[in-house]
Amino acid sequence: MTNQPESTGGTTTAARPPKDIAEAREQRETRVRERQKRRRQAKRARRAMLLLIPLLLVIAWFARPSKIVVADTQGWAWPWTSVSEALADTGITVPPGDLLDVNGAVIEAGGGDPGTALSAGMAIASDAKASDYEEISFRRGDDLVEDAAETVELDRVAQAGESWKPSWETVYFAAPPGLTGITRTRKGASSGAGATEEAIVTPLQRTSDSALPKVIALTFDDGPNGSTTLAILDILNDHGAKGTFFVLGDNVGRETDIVRKIVEGGHEVANHSWGHPEFSSRGRGASFALENIAKAEKIISEAAGVKCRWFRPPYGATTSSQRKAILEAGYSIALWSCDTVDWKRPGSDTIYKRIMRDARPGAVVLMHDGGPREQTVSACRRAVPELVSQGYALVTMSEYERLIAGDDAGIEMRLGDETYEARTPENPVSVFVNGQELPDLHPMLAVRGKVLVPVREVLDALAAQYRWDEAAQTVEVQSNGDEFTLRMDSRRLSRGQSELVVGIPPMLYHEVPLVSADLIARVTGATLDAISVPGELRFSSIR
Ligand SMILES: [Zn+2]
Repeated sequence: MTNQPESTGGTTTAARPPKDIAEAREQRETRVRERQKRRRQAKRARRAMLLLIPLLLVIAWFARPSKIVVADTQGWAWPWTSVSEALADTGITVPPGDLLDVNGAVIEAGGGDPGTALSAGMAIASDAKASDYEEISFRRGDDLVEDAAETVELDRVAQAGESWKPSWETVYFAAPPGLTGITRTRKGASSGAGATEEAIVTPLQRTSDSALPKVIALTFDDGPNGSTTLAILDILNDHGAKGTFFVLGDNVGRETDIVRKIVEGGHEVANHSWGHPEFSSRGRGASFALENIAKAEKIISEAAGVKCRWFRPPYGATTSSQRKAILEAGYSIALWSCDTVDWKRPGSDTIYKRIMRDARPGAVVLMHDGGPREQTVSACRRAVPELVSQGYALVTMSEYERLIAGDDAGIEMRLGDETYEARTPENPVSVFVNGQELPDLHPMLAVRGKVLVPVREVLDALAAQYRWDEAAQTVEVQSNGDEFTLRMDSRRLSRGQSELVVGIPPMLYHEVPLVSADLIARVTGATLDAISVPGELRFSSIR
């Protein structure tokens, strides 16, 4: 600057003192400093902003509202509210469930559970913080079923009023042997309505009589009589044969020793009424039949300590309402397929020939031992060894029932909509527990490729702790602190307080509770090898 020529010319320029130049320089420098200062401030501000934005984002994230969805309506929930407050804020109501009676009819609309809050399909608590969830939806409340008193009845008659009988119509079985229908009734506490649920068990019937096993039941009516009954017992005992004695209650008092001998010999005592009245006479109804049978039953039970399974009406005559009542009282009704008419004393040869003429698998032979019956005794002396040599098993009525009707054709069980067809395995299945084969096992059932085994025998072999409740038809099993209850007619197995649904319900067959082999393994903690039919089931206990 010092050497700058005074080229600008003019009076004013020339008049300026050098002091102005210094001043201008100073002003310039000040401006520069201020600019630098502003730049530094802006830089600090930018840096502060860069720090603030994420902070704001974090705050915004935590303060974001949750989405509320009820059916097609949407709303928003502030994070500081609870799920239920948030719902109230939207002004949307969720319909509650209804209160239903035991039949499913509505007793009180809206009397059920209030709606349920859900997040991602899972129920969440209504007092949970809304901010814990992105989206909250609400489902209509569940219906509630009123409290109900439950009673369970075991019904020997699988289908009330229907009896099962072989095609030759001689024997009315009260129920297919060993099968028990179960009726569960619930009575609503508030409505008083009743609901009945039945597990219906029916036999799978044989398709033809030709498949019947070679068994014959010899039956003797109107006794007992000292000499005749004893003579017949001797003949039967000599040939390993069994018979059934349909005694008259009014004869039993005189012959209690003989009634005991019948039972002790493995033969069967059955009920043939008190006094041999004709049940079907006019004016005699179901109660007449039941009272008469009960009177005879009482003295038979006192004499021999047995309860009769079988009833044979005098003259074979009953009315249909009497038959229904007798079957429902738990008796099976035996008629006959071969009537020897021995009471007319046609000669022992004729009696023998009639027996042999009608001898066939499933025959029930009617004879009489009330009073002196020399002809009948003689006929038996020839017929019994002859039938045995022909390969017939001469059995009691109850054994006959088991072999004929219950000849393991299997059963069908209906539970609600589901039907289970349970048949005996076509090939024998051996059951081993800890390497030991269980002998003489009760007939098993095969259902959908699984084998049902007798639960008590297998649990005994596994040394498991259990309790069989005959009345409730349940087996309670203790295992590793867990307690399982297997109910015979149910797919639901309870384990302590919780429920497990099992594939195949435990079933009663020949009055023995059967449970699928893998279910036994499951509740006892045992291991099970090979669960398919046919073959072997091998359990190993955990001890
Ligand atoms: Zn008679």
